Amino acid sequence: MAAKIQLDGKRALVVGLGKSGVAAALFLRAQGSRVTVSDSKTETQLSKDIPALLDRGVVVETGGHGERTFRDQDLIVVSPGVPVDTPQLKQAHELGVPIIGEVELASQFLRGNVIGITGSNGKTTTTSLCGEVLSKSGLKTQVGGNIGTPVTDMIAGSSDDTWNVLEISSFQLETIETFRPKIGAILNITPDHLDRHGSFAAYAAAKARIFENQTKDDFAVLNADDPTCVEIAAALKSEIYWFGGSERAGNGAFVRAASIFWRDGANEKEILPLTDIGLKGAHNVENVLAAVTVALLAGCKAEDVRRVVKQFKAVEHRLEYVATIRGVSYYNDSKATNVDAAIKAIESFPGNLHIILGGKDKGSDYAVMNELLAKRAKRIYTIGAAAQKIESQIKVPGSIEIVSARTLDNAVKAASEIATAGDVVLLSPACASFDQFDNYEHRGRVFKQLVLAMQEQAQPTGRSNG
Ligand code: ADP
Repeated sequence: MAAKIQLDGKRALVVGLGKSGVAAALFLRAQGSRVTVSDSKTETQLSKDIPALLDRGVVVETGGHGERTFRDQDLIVVSPGVPVDTPQLKQAHELGVPIIGEVELASQFLRGNVIGITGSNGKTTTTSLCGEVLSKSGLKTQVGGNIGTPVTDMIAGSSDDTWNVLEISSFQLETIETFRPKIGAILNITPDHLDRHGSFAAYAAAKARIFENQTKDDFAVLNADDPTCVEIAAALKSEIYWFGGSERAGNGAFVRAASIFWRDGANEKEILPLTDIGLKGAHNVENVLAAVTVALLAGCKAEDVRRVVKQFKAVEHRLEYVATIRGVSYYNDSKATNVDAAIKAIESFPGNLHIILGGKDKGSDYAVMNELLAKRAKRIYTIGAAAQKIESQIKVPGSIEIVSARTLDNAVKAASEIATAGDVVLLSPACASFDQFDNYEHRGRVFKQLVLAMQEQAQPTGRSNG
C-alpha cells in the first residue's frame, strides 16, 4: 500500500461543507491537523454543522473563499460538489499545494478490501445490493461513499478483514491519487454532468480512473453491452470480468435462457433465474448482473447470492412502487436525474404511462426519448425550469397530450384525474431537482405524500389496495 499522508501538525483546508466535507474536517482534526473549512454558503445556511466543527477547534470560513486561505496550506481536501477548476484551487495547485478528495484521503487510512462501484446510473442500487449480499454471506461489510456514510467515517470501523463497498461518483474520481479498489466496477457510461465535465470524453475519462491504480492482482468489472466500457477495457492491467453481453466469450455474468449464468475460465454455472429478481426493469437485470459478478469475485457462494437477490427491494426513489389508487399505479423514480435513467424507467413498463418530466436541466437532449415516449406514453406532464426546453424537444403523435403542469402538485393532480385503471403514473423527471426542491429525495417524498394523501381520501380506512 502507498505511504499515508502525514497529517499531524499539518495545515489542512477542506473546501465545501457537505456531509463528506464535515467528515473529512473532523478526521483531519483527529489526526492532529490544523484544519480550516471554507464554503461559499452563508453561516446561516451552514448553521447545522458549524458548532460541531468549532467545538473541535476547526476554523470555519463561510460566505466565500479568502485568497490566503487557499495559499497557506499543506493540503487541500476538496468536496465532490466543488469544481476543481475554481480560480482559488487552480492557484493553489500552481503553488504546489496537494489537492485531493475525501475518498482519496480516507482510502489511505481505510483497512480491508475495497470495492468501488461507479457508473452513470445504477450505482446506489448495485452498491446496496452488493453490500447486502456480502454481509448476508457472513463477510464483515461496510457500505458507503457517495451514499450514506462518507468514507472517512468508515475508517474507524474497518479492519483487515472488512469489505468496504463504496459507491463512487465521477466527481470523487477526479480527485483520487492512490485509490485502488480490489474490485472496481463501471456499470455504464451515458451522458450526464456534461455541464461540469465539459465533454463526454472528459466524463468517461473521469470514470475510467477507478481502475487507474489497479494491478494484475485486482479485478475490473465492466458492462459488456456498453461501448465506452469496452473501449476502457482495452487499456487495463487488472483482470477483466464482464457482465451482460449474453453468450460472449470471457469471464463474468450473463443471461442465457432467462437465467443468470457465471463463467470463470472453463467453469460455467447457473446462478439464478431472472424470475427471482424482485426489481423492475431490464436495467435492474444489469444491476443484478454487476452485483452477482462483484459478489462472486469477493468469494460469496452462489446460493447466498440467489437468496439475497430474491428478497432485495427497490431502494427508495429508484422506481419505487408507491400505491395503486382506483386501479392506477404510482411509481416514484425521482432519482432519474438524467435522460438515460428516465428512458430505463419508461422501458420498464409496457405502456399506458403518465410521465412527469422536468426540473433543473443539465444540458440534456430530451429528443432522444421521442420514439420511446410515442410508444409508451399516454400523457406527458412537464414541471420546473426545464419544462420549456423539454416541450420544444419532445415530438410525439398528437394523440399524446403534453400538459404544462409547472409543479409536481399540479402534475399529480392532473394525472390522477385523467388516468384510468391499468394506467401508471411515473415520476421519472430526467432532470435534477434543485429548481423546486432541496434534492431528489425531497422531490420523491413530496410525490409520495401527494399520492398517499389521495389514497387516504380514496380509502379513509388507510387500507392499501396495492
Ligand atoms: P445512481 O446511484 O447511479 O444514480 P441509482 O441506483 O440510484 O443509480 O438509480 C438512479 C436511476 O437510474 C433510477 O431512478 C433508475 O431509473 C435508473 N437506473 C438504475 N439502474 C440503471 C442502469 N443500470 N442503467 C440505466 N439506468 C438505471
